[in-house]
Amino acid sequence: MQTLGIIRKADNVGRLVLPKTFRDKLGLDKDTNLEITSDGECIFIRKAAEGCIFCGKTERTYLFDNKRICEGCLSKLQK
Ligand SMILES: [Zn+2]
Repeated sequence: MQTLGIIRKADNVGRLVLPKTFRDKLGLDKDTNLEITSDGECIFIRKAAEGCIFCGKTERTYLFDNKRICEGCLSKLQK
């Protein structure tokens, strides 16, 4: 198998450090939520879609003062 990436070992509880070059390139910091999935052979990691600060919903959201809020929560706040 040919590898093109950086090879790292996970520690005894499965933790893995993401290389700084990748974190910097993708703008990841300690507060970035990551979504981890697998197709049974490979593991994929990507930035999680930002959800509503109140309920976590990711569809039909608006950005207000750098915080994301969904239509439903916005409607509740307006009442
Ligand atoms: Zn919401």
